[in-house]
Amino acid sequence: MTERRAIIWFRNDLRLHDHEVLALLADTVQVLVPVYCLDPAQFEIQPSGFPLTGPLRARFLVECLEDLRAGLEARGSGLHVVLGQPEKVIPALAQTLGVREVFAERDVWGEAVKVERRLAAALEPLGVSLRGFRVSTLVHPDDLPFPAANLPESFAQFQEAVTVSGEPRAPLPPLQKLPAYPDGLDTPTLATLVQALGLSAVSDPGQQTGFKGGATVAVARLEEFVQGRRASLETLRGGAGEAAARADRFGPWLARGALSPRRIYQYVNYSGLTMWAGELANAAISELQRRDFCRFLAIKRGEWDEQSGRPPAWDDEGLRERFELWRRGETGEPFVDAHLRELALTGHLSSFGRRLVASYLCHELGLDWRWGAAWFASQLLDDDPSVNLAVWMEVTGRWRAFDRPGRLNSAEQAAHRDPDGVYCRRWLETAGAVSRRFG
Ligand SMILES: Cc1cc2nc3c(=O)[nH]c(=O)nc-3n(C[C@H](O)[C@H](O)[C@H](O)COP(=O)(O)OP(=O)(O)OC[C@H]3O[C@@H](n4cnc5c(N)ncnc54)[C@H](O)[C@@H]3O)c2cc1C
Repeated sequence: MTERRAIIWFRNDLRLHDHEVLALLADTVQVLVPVYCLDPAQFEIQPSGFPLTGPLRARFLVECLEDLRAGLEARGSGLHVVLGQPEKVIPALAQTLGVREVFAERDVWGEAVKVERRLAAALEPLGVSLRGFRVSTLVHPDDLPFPAANLPESFAQFQEAVTVSGEPRAPLPPLQKLPAYPDGLDTPTLATLVQALGLSAVSDPGQQTGFKGGATVAVARLEEFVQGRRASLETLRGGAGEAAARADRFGPWLARGALSPRRIYQYVNYSGLTMWAGELANAAISELQRRDFCRFLAIKRGEWDEQSGRPPAWDDEGLRERFELWRRGETGEPFVDAHLRELALTGHLSSFGRRLVASYLCHELGLDWRWGAAWFASQLLDDDPSVNLAVWMEVTGRWRAFDRPGRLNSAEQAAHRDPDGVYCRRWLETAGAVSRRFG
């Protein structure tokens, strides 16, 4: 019998736990080549003045890859990380290694889907098939209670339908062993690749925020949530700090696929949490459903043309300068500026903070939302185009799927949420900006 050889192209599914296709390949393939393509174009500075992938997310990604590689090696496999475009790298590799099948997570939207098409077209003449799968949603696509084309356009309807249709599938058991990795595959170290991409100078975001990439950290964080540390939140209830403490902050790992949404569901749903923490569990599950909703909606809508979020060219220097002030957190509105600086320094922002600065950009500064969405996409550790664009469109008022207000009054919000200016002082370096409001 001939040996079955396959490539698994890792994308935003950087984990070994609860990975349906990896589990299937583990039992059915004799030689498996796990590959990740680092495309330099993703890290270059764009005409906008900032890269598609900002340095904090780039670093987080590299940490995810280091963790994935260690996990694969511990199970007898390896990770072949290559600089280059997938549609060039993968066909060449398939030919060299005599591979006839490539497996890859299907993305939901935009350029990432176009890359899949280009790869399929490049593989076809070689007689190599590209087989897509989806492993990033809480509800398995085959378990949706309606055909994808009939997905409701309101989150409330979607949530009700998926909740009554039953529990999501249970996460798969951990993998102990993987198929053989080809001998002599020359793979540069991640340190070499990081240097080639000019990323070595980036400081560790973990020092600022506690976000360190990789499934190992993500699972430990989940354990922490479940072990009842969150119960200490009871002391914060209703008081200062509650909003920040409520955030689960699984987003960065979910976005890179380093944590499976079904694993979160299982942990938070069956861990005997206290009643107050039980509320948090419900909130966490609801957020995973919001994420599913955005992803399935992106699949349903296909390419969102004008809504695709590509920023238009600047035809007015004044508008561009206004955007630069917003981006740097120098609008002169302290509560807005503090949030923008938190984003730039940490790569993360609370949901409220995102709405606040987005509302300010669209409704107070009168700027095109796509510039704001592009800056978010560059900075956020949890950048997920399907969620980012859906929520930006809601802020602009083009879409009302979540039924949340699009416009926020920053002065009122500051008076309500940060009456003593603690948050502003924390993130604003310039005393002048604080004194305009509090001085
Ligand atoms: C303008 C704007 C842009 C946003 N861009 C993104 C983005 O690029 N990626 C992203 O994951 N989320 C985005 N969100 C949604 C939300 O703000 C973040 O998911 C949330 O703040 C992340 O916090 P967390 O890490 O504690 O996530 P958790 O509370 O751990 O939630 C887990 C996941 O649920 C989803 N989720 C949580 N809250 C929301 C929400 N309000 N709407 C939709 N999905 C939600 C996210 O995918 C998140 O990763 C955006 C919100 C706004 C207002």
